[in-house]
Amino acid sequence: MKKGTKLLSVLLAFVMVISMFAATFAASAADYYKPHYTEEVTEEDVSLMLGDVNTLLSRELLTGDIIEEIYKFLPSLSAVVNNGSPSDSTRNAAYYKAAQPERFAALPDGEIVDDVTDENGNVTTPGTFTTFFETHPIVCSDLAAFQTEINNIIDLVVIDNVMSTIVFAFVFFGQQNIPQGQALGDGVDQICEALGVEQEAKLQDLLGIGAQLGSFDTAGTRVYLKNVVSGLLPDLSNNLMAIIRSIADEEKGAKLYAGITAVLENLSSVLTALSSSLASLGVDLESVLTTIDELKNGFAALPTLGEGDTKRLDLEGVIGQLVPLLTNSLVGIELKIVFVDREEHDPEPPTLTDLPGSDLGGLENGIQFRHMQLDRIANCESTADVMKTIYDYLYDNLIADPTNNALLTSVVGLAGLVGIPQAIADFLDAALDMDNSELANELILMLANEAGRHVLTAYAATAPTCTESGNTAYYICEACGKWFADADATQEITDQNSVIVPATGHTPAEHYYADPDGHALICETCGVTLESGAHVDEDGDGLCDVCAFEIPAEPEEPTEPEQPTDPEQPTQPEEPTEPTTGADDETPVKDADIPKTGSAASIGFGALSLAAAGALVLLRARSKKNDII
Ligand SMILES: [Zn+2]
Ligand SMILES: [Zn+2]
Ligand SMILES: [Zn+2]
Repeated sequence: MKKGTKLLSVLLAFVMVISMFAATFAASAADYYKPHYTEEVTEEDVSLMLGDVNTLLSRELLTGDIIEEIYKFLPSLSAVVNNGSPSDSTRNAAYYKAAQPERFAALPDGEIVDDVTDENGNVTTPGTFTTFFETHPIVCSDLAAFQTEINNIIDLVVIDNVMSTIVFAFVFFGQQNIPQGQALGDGVDQICEALGVEQEAKLQDLLGIGAQLGSFDTAGTRVYLKNVVSGLLPDLSNNLMAIIRSIADEEKGAKLYAGITAVLENLSSVLTALSSSLASLGVDLESVLTTIDELKNGFAALPTLGEGDTKRLDLEGVIGQLVPLLTNSLVGIELKIVFVDREEHDPEPPTLTDLPGSDLGGLENGIQFRHMQLDRIANCESTADVMKTIYDYLYDNLIADPTNNALLTSVVGLAGLVGIPQAIADFLDAALDMDNSELANELILMLANEAGRHVLTAYAATAPTCTESGNTAYYICEACGKWFADADATQEITDQNSVIVPATGHTPAEHYYADPDGHALICETCGVTLESGAHVDEDGDGLCDVCAFEIPAEPEEPTEPEQPTDPEQPTQPEEPTEPTTGADDETPVKDADIPKTGSAASIGFGALSLAAAGALVLLRARSKKNDII
């Protein structure tokens, strides 16, 4: 399973590299091309995503494991990589201890013993390094750390003895090999130039196979190799995007093609010439030569544009060849891609054909992609723009295009048949219905989650009120759904209820608000009436038993009892309107109701409360005890 994931990563990396190597169109406009960003998907989001890709690459692909594997390989080069004697070669622990004392202090002295493996390549008896790295693992926390490790190995391997061996091999096997060696060096120089990796010297001169035959430059070669490493590794995804942009023009694309061709064509003949020499030193290059031959044949078979100096890879052709191979090996469906002009686009949905059992066979018409506009990439302003432009192109062709969308929908519908995991099929199914920024946002969040980056949305603190709870400030990660107390996502909130600040409850004023109509107790904070009623004076002291208000002696009160009988008469309704004009009659009517029904009084106190709430500030500002009463 892990191997499968790694294989996929390698394939993806390969696709990226191929697209990087393929420059087919000249930049046609000097103006920068700006892809369309949205609120959901900003340029910053895409830049951060490129950082996530780096994180994933450094975690999944460019790990300390790979560095350990390189160290395990070094002892086999002991015949070449030594400082003058077998006892000071990569076969001896002393070699590593001298070069990197801190790392290898605990390496057992003496000869480095290789792993013993069975015919399947499984380690049956761990060798010196395997055992050593189990207790002293090499960890590369990021791409920069990986770069440092590679540079350490360059220092370890590129030494005078190696350089002199190279020169010796060339000289020993005759002058006819030197032009090929020089062409090889020039090819590497050209690749560096096309990729924007600046070099101060020509590789053939540094190696001593150029004009200055035999005079190699060890320090210069180390710098040359480290330039390549630092030109690509520390920020791999951004570098790849920058490279795609910078070579998306005819001239650099042609230079790259020429460089790669020169390297592949000359490398195998040079190595073939050197192999017998190296074999006598104990280095077996057979498998390396086979791999180089395969690469050479594969590269030569890729479709090209132009001739002679302008010959370069045809990116569309490359993709057209790669996609069916990739989809066939990954999901068992050979998806063909056909590039067409916008107006030539076939409105008829392509059809699935040949369904023998679970094998879908080929697709009759294939997926129709509109021709690329590489000038857009060449004219991008930032690496995020390059990424977004590529994404938009894929989205427009695969999802926004109804014909292709229909085709893919039917393929996804058959996911179970060809063994695509249901979770992936479900995601693809959903993706086919998403709009551009929705899907981009989804992908950004997925990558962020994989890379362990949190995408925080801030929720400001709110103060609680008397009846509503508030909350402390918190942040929710859109990628993983976790809650955090800080904007740096260092303090996770595991109990989401902990952000709640409970409602305070009402704070009753210290004293009742009172007027001749009655009294009310009000919340100091929000002004709500907590309690209200008419005055009560059961002890007959003239003061309200509740609020101590001095109850005015009203002569009309005795007459009140008669009135309750009157309202029953149907003629009465007119009266309530009249008292509003009458100044003195109004209050007695109300007073009559208040003592009997306290709840009814609260209606009148609604207005009172509002006024009281406003007055409250004044009241609290004054001496609390006496003013109100
Ligand atoms: Zn998160
Ligand atoms: Zn309140
Ligand atoms: Zn009272």
